[in-house]
Amino acid sequence: MTGLLSYKAQGIYCEAGDFFIDPWRPVNKALITHAHADHSRWGMKQYLAHHRSIPVMRHRLGEINVSGVEYEEEVNINGVKVSFHPAGHIIGSSQIRVEYKGEVWVVSGDYRTGESDHTCAPFEPVKCHAFITESTFGLPIFRWQTNESLFADINAWWSSLARNKKNAVLFAYSLGKAQRVLAGVDPSIGPIYTHGAVENTNEVLRADGMILPETTRITQDHKSGDIKGALIIAPPSAMGTPWMKRLQPYETAIASGWMQVRGMRRRRNADKGFVLSDHADWEGLNHAIAETGAERIYVTHGYSDIYSKYLSEQGYDARVVETEYGEEQEEKEANA
Ligand SMILES: [Zn+2]
Ligand SMILES: [Zn+2]
Repeated sequence: MTGLLSYKAQGIYCEAGDFFIDPWRPVNKALITHAHADHSRWGMKQYLAHHRSIPVMRHRLGEINVSGVEYEEEVNINGVKVSFHPAGHIIGSSQIRVEYKGEVWVVSGDYRTGESDHTCAPFEPVKCHAFITESTFGLPIFRWQTNESLFADINAWWSSLARNKKNAVLFAYSLGKAQRVLAGVDPSIGPIYTHGAVENTNEVLRADGMILPETTRITQDHKSGDIKGALIIAPPSAMGTPWMKRLQPYETAIASGWMQVRGMRRRRNADKGFVLSDHADWEGLNHAIAETGAERIYVTHGYSDIYSKYLSEQGYDARVVETEYGEEQEEKEANA
């Protein structure tokens, strides 16, 4: 990758402006697309992010030197025009637009198109010459159902367990997916409990103004049989740990885009899977890319080889760029 943005050992670099976007190694100036751990890392001298990313970044990274921007707000960095635009992925998630001498590049970070909810601003396509896209679900088999039918399924699962005095344990990443679940389920079915990692994140987001239904943190005081008919939201890494014992009797489900793949659920040892993602599906990726009007596409983060080949066949100047972005690791949090 060469041009206005290029690829360095530390991450995606803008030489004209002397800054990095989502660097994976410590640098002086880092522009952050969103607060997930693979994009927002520790050790940068200065961070710039959408203002709604900041509370979670501080929660996860501790005291950092960070400035906030609003969507569409123009920032000038050493003569390079920079602005952040909604990515529809998680709270504060942004595509970063970089303009210099009439050339426009957009780094999309992770993004989700189509239907959104109040947990984050919906994706907006941004016109550019070169677009750096993720490809987490860059295969035609990935196709998301509507929020209405997805949550009808989740509510039906929870209701039937509640009627049998069982708990419904739903595994969802603590930042992003957990809040999407909370925003979509019907809280009148029963009480909602959370794992500490999820509740800590909820607290940060509620303090920042996000409206979520009432949830109760599960603590050491909860013994097996105390909780009945509840929906319990926990990070995937809590699956199969001793923490689960106090939730008995229960059934489990995973909320993930990967649940669209047959066999994945069994490998992950859950009773059920719901196809819920904070990334774009196949149609979403293709639509988003077409809308940018970009000729040059750099593909990373997922099925990059297959997807860039597909884009080339569609007439794009598409190639793979190697980054160190990937699924979130939450092992540490789950033991908290
Ligand atoms: Zn992400
Ligand atoms: Zn990512």
